Amino acid sequence: MSKKIIAGNWKQNGTLKSSVRLTKKILEALKKNKCRHEIIIIPPAIFLLPIKDLIYKSKIKLGAQNVSAFNNGAYTGEISGTMLKDSKVEYCLVGHSERRHIINEDEYILSSKVSQLIDNDITIIYCFGETLSEYKNKKTKLILKNQLKKLFLSNKNNLKKKPSKLVLAYEPVWAIGTGLVPSPEELASIFKFIRNTVNKMNKNYSSIKILYGGSVSEDNAPSLIDTEYIDGLLIGGASLIAKKFIDICSTI
Ligand code: PEP
Repeated sequence: MSKKIIAGNWKQNGTLKSSVRLTKKILEALKKNKCRHEIIIIPPAIFLLPIKDLIYKSKIKLGAQNVSAFNNGAYTGEISGTMLKDSKVEYCLVGHSERRHIINEDEYILSSKVSQLIDNDITIIYCFGETLSEYKNKKTKLILKNQLKKLFLSNKNNLKKKPSKLVLAYEPVWAIGTGLVPSPEELASIFKFIRNTVNKMNKNYSSIKILYGGSVSEDNAPSLIDTEYIDGLLIGGASLIAKKFIDICSTI
Protein backbone atom coordinates (compact mmCIF):
# COMPACT_ATOMS: atom_id res chain seq x y z
CA MET A 1 0.00 0.00 0.00
CA SER A 2 1.29 3.47 -0.83
CA LYS A 3 1.97 5.96 1.96
CA LYS A 4 -1.28 7.47 3.23
CA ILE A 5 -2.09 10.55 5.31
CA ILE A 6 -3.76 10.04 8.69
CA ALA A 7 -4.86 13.29 10.29
CA GLY A 8 -6.45 13.66 13.71
CA ASN A 9 -8.67 16.70 14.25
CA TRP A 10 -9.03 17.18 18.00
CA LYS A 11 -11.55 20.00 17.57
CA GLN A 12 -12.34 22.03 20.73
CA ASN A 13 -11.56 19.22 23.15
CA GLY A 14 -9.18 18.37 25.96
CA THR A 15 -6.95 20.15 28.41
CA LEU A 16 -3.26 20.89 28.15
CA LYS A 17 -2.61 17.85 30.34
CA SER A 18 -4.79 15.47 28.34
CA SER A 19 -3.40 16.77 25.03
CA VAL A 20 0.18 16.21 26.18
CA ARG A 21 -0.74 12.74 27.41
CA LEU A 22 -2.40 11.87 24.11
CA THR A 23 0.59 13.13 22.13
CA LYS A 24 3.04 11.15 24.27
CA LYS A 25 1.02 7.97 23.81
CA ILE A 26 1.01 8.41 20.03
CA LEU A 27 4.77 9.07 20.08
CA GLU A 28 5.43 5.95 22.16
CA ALA A 29 3.31 3.78 19.88
CA LEU A 30 4.99 5.09 16.76
CA LYS A 31 8.39 4.29 18.23
CA LYS A 32 7.31 0.69 18.78
CA ASN A 33 5.54 -0.07 15.52
CA LYS A 34 6.80 1.38 12.33
CA CYS A 35 3.85 3.22 10.89
CA ARG A 36 4.74 4.14 7.30
CA HIS A 37 2.01 6.67 6.93
CA GLU A 38 2.15 10.42 7.38
CA ILE A 39 0.58 11.30 10.72
CA ILE A 40 -0.76 14.80 11.35
CA ILE A 41 -2.21 15.89 14.67
CA ILE A 42 -4.44 18.95 14.77
CA PRO A 43 -4.86 20.19 18.37
CA PRO A 44 -6.68 23.32 19.55
CA ALA A 45 -4.61 26.46 18.78
CA ILE A 46 -3.73 27.12 22.39
CA PHE A 47 -1.95 23.75 22.65
CA LEU A 48 -0.01 23.96 19.36
CA LEU A 49 3.25 25.23 20.82
CA PRO A 50 3.62 22.80 23.75
CA ILE A 51 2.75 19.94 21.41
CA LYS A 52 5.21 21.15 18.81
CA ASP A 53 7.91 20.90 21.48
CA LEU A 54 6.95 17.27 22.13
CA ILE A 55 6.90 16.11 18.49
CA TYR A 56 9.72 18.14 16.97
CA LYS A 57 12.12 15.19 16.74
CA SER A 58 9.47 12.77 15.48
CA LYS A 59 7.80 12.24 12.11
CA ILE A 60 4.47 13.53 13.38
CA LYS A 61 3.38 16.73 11.67
CA LEU A 62 1.49 19.56 13.29
CA GLY A 63 -1.71 21.08 11.94
CA ALA A 64 -3.92 23.99 13.00
CA GLN A 65 -7.70 23.91 12.94
CA ASN A 66 -8.11 27.46 11.70
CA VAL A 67 -6.34 30.53 10.33
CA SER A 68 -7.32 34.16 10.01
CA ALA A 69 -8.55 35.38 6.63
CA PHE A 70 -6.29 38.42 7.15
CA ASN A 71 -2.62 38.98 7.61
CA ASN A 72 -1.25 40.55 10.82
CA GLY A 73 -3.06 43.62 12.10
CA ALA A 74 -6.09 44.74 14.06
CA TYR A 75 -8.08 41.48 14.04
CA THR A 76 -8.60 40.73 17.71
CA GLY A 77 -8.68 37.05 18.55
CA GLU A 78 -7.39 35.83 15.20
CA ILE A 79 -4.21 33.87 14.43
CA SER A 80 -2.53 34.67 11.11
CA GLY A 81 -0.87 32.37 8.60
CA THR A 82 2.39 34.18 9.34
CA MET A 83 2.05 33.29 13.02
CA LEU A 84 1.32 29.65 12.20
CA LYS A 85 4.37 29.52 9.97
CA ASP A 86 6.49 31.13 12.68
CA SER A 87 5.26 28.42 15.09
CA LYS A 88 6.31 25.67 12.62
CA VAL A 89 2.76 24.59 11.89
CA GLU A 90 2.80 22.71 8.58
CA TYR A 91 -0.89 22.03 7.91
CA CYS A 92 -4.16 23.87 8.47
CA LEU A 93 -7.80 22.88 8.03
CA VAL A 94 -10.03 25.12 5.93
CA GLY A 95 -13.73 24.65 5.19
CA HIS A 96 -14.51 22.13 7.92
CA SER A 97 -18.27 21.66 8.07
CA GLU A 98 -18.41 22.94 11.65
CA ARG A 99 -16.85 26.23 10.50
CA ARG A 100 -19.05 26.40 7.40
CA HIS A 101 -22.30 25.61 9.21
CA ILE A 102 -21.84 26.76 12.84
CA ILE A 103 -19.45 29.71 12.38
CA ASN A 104 -21.04 30.53 8.97
CA GLU A 105 -17.82 30.85 7.00
CA ASP A 106 -18.63 31.44 3.33
CA GLU A 107 -16.63 30.70 0.19
CA TYR A 108 -15.18 34.23 0.16
CA ILE A 109 -13.70 33.78 3.63
CA LEU A 110 -12.50 30.26 2.81
CA SER A 111 -10.75 31.55 -0.30
CA SER A 112 -8.99 34.28 1.70
CA LYS A 113 -7.84 31.67 4.21
CA VAL A 114 -6.49 29.50 1.40
CA SER A 115 -4.51 32.50 0.13
CA GLN A 116 -3.09 33.31 3.54
CA LEU A 117 -1.89 29.74 3.93
CA ILE A 118 -0.42 29.50 0.44
CA ASP A 119 1.47 32.75 1.06
CA ASN A 120 2.94 31.19 4.18
CA ASP A 121 3.76 27.81 2.64
CA ILE A 122 1.36 25.93 4.91
CA THR A 123 -0.43 22.93 3.42
CA ILE A 124 -4.19 23.34 3.37
CA ILE A 125 -6.47 20.43 4.25
CA TYR A 126 -9.59 21.66 2.48
CA CYS A 127 -12.79 20.02 3.68
CA PHE A 128 -15.93 19.81 1.59
CA GLY A 129 -19.02 17.64 1.49
CA GLU A 130 -22.78 17.53 1.16
CA THR A 131 -25.40 17.91 3.90
CA LEU A 132 -27.89 15.21 4.81
CA SER A 133 -30.72 16.79 2.82
CA GLU A 134 -28.49 17.22 -0.23
CA TYR A 135 -27.50 13.56 0.11
CA LYS A 136 -31.12 12.45 0.46
CA ASN A 137 -32.08 14.51 -2.60
CA LYS A 138 -29.30 12.82 -4.59
CA LYS A 139 -27.46 16.10 -5.11
CA THR A 140 -24.11 14.94 -3.75
CA LYS A 141 -22.11 15.10 -6.98
CA LEU A 142 -23.61 18.42 -8.01
CA ILE A 143 -22.78 19.96 -4.63
CA LEU A 144 -19.24 18.59 -4.60
CA LYS A 145 -18.59 19.84 -8.11
CA ASN A 146 -19.76 23.33 -7.13
CA GLN A 147 -17.65 23.36 -3.99
CA LEU A 148 -14.57 22.25 -5.93
CA LYS A 149 -15.22 24.80 -8.68
CA LYS A 150 -15.48 27.58 -6.10
CA LEU A 151 -12.17 26.51 -4.61
CA PHE A 152 -10.23 26.00 -7.82
CA LEU A 153 -11.72 28.69 -10.02
CA SER A 154 -11.76 31.48 -7.44
CA ASN A 155 -9.81 34.54 -8.57
CA LYS A 156 -9.33 35.43 -4.95
CA ASN A 157 -7.04 32.61 -3.89
CA ASN A 158 -3.62 31.90 -5.33
CA LEU A 159 -3.87 28.12 -5.38
CA LYS A 160 -2.76 27.85 -9.01
CA LYS A 161 0.69 29.01 -7.91
CA LYS A 162 1.20 26.07 -5.54
CA PRO A 163 -1.25 23.17 -6.02
CA SER A 164 1.13 20.93 -4.06
CA LYS A 165 0.11 22.88 -0.97
CA LEU A 166 -3.42 21.47 -1.10
CA VAL A 167 -4.91 18.27 0.30
CA LEU A 168 -8.65 17.71 -0.16
CA ALA A 169 -10.81 16.06 2.50
CA TYR A 170 -14.22 14.79 1.43
CA GLU A 171 -16.37 14.79 4.55
CA PRO A 172 -20.10 14.17 4.10
CA VAL A 173 -21.65 16.46 6.73
CA TRP A 174 -24.11 13.71 7.70
CA ALA A 175 -21.22 11.34 8.46
CA ILE A 176 -19.35 13.63 10.86
CA GLY A 177 -19.71 12.45 14.44
CA THR A 178 -22.81 10.37 13.63
CA GLY A 179 -21.42 6.85 13.25
CA LEU A 180 -22.76 6.84 9.68
CA VAL A 181 -20.44 6.17 6.75
CA PRO A 182 -21.27 6.01 3.02
CA SER A 183 -21.51 2.48 1.61
CA PRO A 184 -18.40 1.10 -0.14
CA GLU A 185 -20.20 1.48 -3.52
CA GLU A 186 -21.12 5.11 -2.78
CA LEU A 187 -17.59 5.92 -1.67
CA ALA A 188 -16.00 4.28 -4.69
CA SER A 189 -18.27 6.21 -7.03
CA ILE A 190 -17.83 9.55 -5.21
CA PHE A 191 -14.05 9.30 -4.99
CA LYS A 192 -13.80 8.45 -8.67
CA PHE A 193 -15.97 11.45 -9.41
CA ILE A 194 -13.89 13.78 -7.20
CA ARG A 195 -10.61 12.54 -8.70
CA ASN A 196 -11.90 13.03 -12.26
CA THR A 197 -13.37 16.45 -11.48
CA VAL A 198 -10.11 17.68 -9.96
CA ASN A 199 -7.95 16.23 -12.75
CA LYS A 200 -10.13 17.84 -15.41
CA MET A 201 -9.70 21.31 -13.89
CA ASN A 202 -5.96 21.36 -14.46
CA LYS A 203 -3.45 18.63 -15.24
CA ASN A 204 -1.20 19.99 -12.47
CA TYR A 205 -3.88 18.99 -9.97
CA SER A 206 -3.61 15.25 -10.58
CA SER A 207 -1.19 14.76 -7.67
CA ILE A 208 -3.48 16.45 -5.13
CA LYS A 209 -4.30 13.96 -2.39
CA ILE A 210 -7.89 13.27 -1.35
CA LEU A 211 -8.79 12.14 2.17
CA TYR A 212 -12.01 10.72 3.54
CA GLY A 213 -13.46 11.97 6.83
CA GLY A 214 -16.63 11.12 8.75
CA SER A 215 -17.03 8.57 11.58
CA VAL A 216 -13.76 6.79 10.82
CA SER A 217 -13.11 4.11 13.42
CA GLU A 218 -10.57 1.38 14.04
CA ASP A 219 -13.15 -1.06 12.61
CA ASN A 220 -13.94 0.66 9.33
CA ALA A 221 -10.53 2.29 8.61
CA PRO A 222 -8.98 -0.72 6.80
CA SER A 223 -11.87 -1.02 4.32
CA LEU A 224 -12.15 2.74 3.83
CA ILE A 225 -8.47 3.05 3.02
CA ASP A 226 -8.75 0.24 0.47
CA THR A 227 -11.19 2.32 -1.56
CA GLU A 228 -9.69 3.41 -4.84
CA TYR A 229 -8.54 7.07 -4.86
CA ILE A 230 -8.67 7.48 -1.05
CA ASP A 231 -5.25 8.82 -0.09
CA GLY A 232 -5.84 9.03 3.64
CA LEU A 233 -8.23 9.67 6.50
CA LEU A 234 -9.29 12.72 8.48
CA ILE A 235 -10.40 11.53 11.90
CA GLY A 236 -12.33 13.45 14.55
CA GLY A 237 -13.72 11.58 17.56
CA ALA A 238 -11.47 8.51 17.26
CA SER A 239 -8.33 10.68 17.18
CA LEU A 240 -8.99 11.78 20.76
CA ILE A 241 -8.62 8.28 22.13
CA ALA A 242 -4.99 7.18 21.95
CA LYS A 243 -5.72 3.48 21.50
CA LYS A 244 -8.23 4.05 18.70
CA PHE A 245 -6.00 6.48 16.81
CA ILE A 246 -2.95 4.23 17.21
CA ASP A 247 -4.93 1.17 16.10
CA ILE A 248 -6.02 3.02 12.98
CA CYS A 249 -2.45 4.14 12.24
CA SER A 250 -1.01 0.69 12.76
CA THR A 251 -3.65 -1.47 11.08
CA ILE A 252 -3.79 0.23 7.72
C1 PEP B 1 -14.15 15.65 11.57
O1 PEP B 1 -14.55 16.41 12.43
O2 PEP B 1 -13.41 16.07 10.65
C2 PEP B 1 -14.59 14.25 11.63
C3 PEP B 1 -14.39 13.52 10.58
O3 PEP B 1 -15.18 13.84 12.79
P1 PEP B 1 -15.60 12.33 13.18
O4 PEP B 1 -14.45 11.44 12.81
O5 PEP B 1 -15.83 12.38 14.64
O6 PEP B 1 -16.81 12.00 12.40
